[in-house]
Formats: sequence, structure tokens, C-alpha cells
Amino acid sequence: MTIQTIDAIPLSHSLDGRALGSSRGKTDTRFTTLVRAETEDGLVGWGEAFAPPRTVATAIDELLADEIVGMDPYQVESLVTDSYTGSLVDYHFADGPFVQSAISGVDIALWDILGKLTGESVTRLLGSGDVSSVVPYASTGYFTSWGQDIEEPMRAAADEEFTAVKLKIGRGVEDDIDRVSTAREILGDETQIMVDFNGNYTPKQARRSVAALEKYDLTWVEEPVPAENLSGYRQLTPELDIPVAAGEAHYGRFEYKQLLDERLVDIVQPNIGRIGGLSEARFIAKLAATENIPVCPHVWNGGVGVAAALHFYASLTTYPHSENVPVLLPFEFDRSPNPLRDELLEDPLDPRGGELAVPDGPGLGIDIDEEALERYRIE
Ligand SMILES: [Mg+2]
Repeated sequence: MTIQTIDAIPLSHSLDGRALGSSRGKTDTRFTTLVRAETEDGLVGWGEAFAPPRTVATAIDELLADEIVGMDPYQVESLVTDSYTGSLVDYHFADGPFVQSAISGVDIALWDILGKLTGESVTRLLGSGDVSSVVPYASTGYFTSWGQDIEEPMRAAADEEFTAVKLKIGRGVEDDIDRVSTAREILGDETQIMVDFNGNYTPKQARRSVAALEKYDLTWVEEPVPAENLSGYRQLTPELDIPVAAGEAHYGRFEYKQLLDERLVDIVQPNIGRIGGLSEARFIAKLAATENIPVCPHVWNGGVGVAAALHFYASLTTYPHSENVPVLLPFEFDRSPNPLRDELLEDPLDPRGGELAVPDGPGLGIDIDEEALERYRIE
């Protein structure tokens, strides 16, 4: 059995001028790239790359397609390794977000095919099978172009019965305190709260903010300093009692190895659509386990990418912990408007009520709404 066709499908949706985002910037567009792979026997697998859509579609067409067509899908785990050795992509261009995002989309599509071929879910193929749901957290509380009050998304998360919520901060300590104290007041003492600085602070600014927020019992603080400021993490992480999470803007096994070996963070957050796919995420999860560092994926993807991350998360082992210590952190579920997440799947994933079911499979366990796909396809 070999892959006969591989298609990259760029998708985009305008938020009609209503921009939202983080302390470092806002976007008025949601985009993604779907990957559709089909075998000679007509099995179709779907993947998703998290990167600017035309860019990554070009990378797939120009750099990968010729190598993928004719490939046995059981060779999926060789994709990233072959990109580094030079047998998949010229090694001068293998590293970095766009090529690895393109590989991610292909990798996920091939895992979906393997699931359909064997009749098993991706979770089971990755080595687990007894986790049928996870606890989702509402990723919300964005900075917006219309100046949305933080109360509104916090009340929405409470109404939807989330038991964990993450909000954006990082525009000054006073504003951080204002947002987090409001969130805690609305969500109550039982809800887990995480905050995301999106790397907008220096280490000293971050230290001041985290000290001021300590009384609000945060589960983690995310990207307190820029991703590339490794010396900042080296300085800050050991000083803080609150776990430091990062990884959404880090790429690949070599960069992650440094994060893990030096314990620059307490939680790593690979994006499955960008890190090199499910295969590379699994590689990194095993590296992380050797350093006793939890993995909790970054998920700001469309429906296919969310499903892939969900299968990956459900497959993680508890090593080195026992079942008596909870190690699985809540799973990210973005609550900002995004039809590429909510309309692309025939059965949209529903995180409300404090529980998120893992699709049964086979494969990713999803069906694509082809009309929705055409609605958001761009040239
Ligand atoms: Mg983040």
C-alpha cells in the first residue's frame, strides 16, 4: 500500500475586522492548511499544518509531494528524521517552522490512514487506548480590538462549565492583577486558572508580575519571556514556585532537548501541527518523560489539528508517576470564534461541561464537511 496523492489545502477566514490575540499582537484572520492524503486503494487521511496557509502549502507542493507519493504510510515515523538527514528535504532547509509544519500535516494524515487501515484509533496506534476523554480548559480572555472586558469571557467559561481556564495577560503588572483577580472572583476557588504572557516581559517584569499573582493560585504561567530568550528561562524558571510552561514557539527535537535537559521550563507545549506531527510529538514526550517534565500540547488549530492533539494527549503514559498522582494537565480548547475548528468537522468537538471526548476512530475519528472546506478554501 502506498500514497498515491497528497494535497495541501490552504484555508482562511476573516474575522471581519474584529482582531483578537495576545499581549504581543492581534489577528483578524484565522487560517490553517489541511492535508489530504489518499492511498492507491482509496483510503483518505487528513492532517493539518499550523502555519501561514499558502506558505506551508507551497512547502508541501515544492519540497515534499514528490517524496510522499509512492511512500508506504507505515514509514510515517521516518519523515522528520529523513528531513534532518537530507533524504526527504535538502538538510539546509529542513529545520524551522514552515518545513516542519508541512511535515506535521503530512504526518498526521498518514497516521489517520494507518488508523483506517487497521480499524484502530490514533490513540491506540500511539500506544494507549483506555483514555476516552480529557478535561478541557477554556483558552480565552484575549486582548481584542474592541476592548472586550475580561469579565465577559470569564462568565462565558463559567456558563460552559469549564473547570480550567487560561487568560491572556502581559500588558503591565497592574493590568495583570486586574485581569486575574477578576477571573478568580468570577470563576471561584475550585477552577484551575492559567495565564499566558506570550513572551512579552523581561525576566524582571515577569518576576514582579508572578509575585503579585501568587495569591490567585495559578496552575501555570505561560511564556513569561520570549521563546528565544533561553537565558531568561534559565534565570526565571528555578526562581518561581509556579510551574513555567512554554514550547508553542519552539521547534523540533533538538530545541526541545535543550529545554528539557536544562529544565528551562516545567511543562512543555508542542503544537502537533508544527512540531513535526504526531511522530515528533511522541518523540518529544518520551524525552520529556526522562526528565519528569509533563507535556501539555498547545492547541490553536482547526478541527483536524484539535483532533490530532486530542489523540496524542490521550495516548500519553503517566510515567514516571503512578495513578495516585494526577499528572495529566487540562487540554487546551480555544473559545475564540473559529469556523475552521467548529465547521470543518461533520461532528464538531464539544468541550463544554468539563469533559472532552476523544473521537473513537478509526484513525482520527473525524469526517470532513466538504462544503465547509470549500467555503474557506483560498487560492
Ligand atoms: Mg500560549
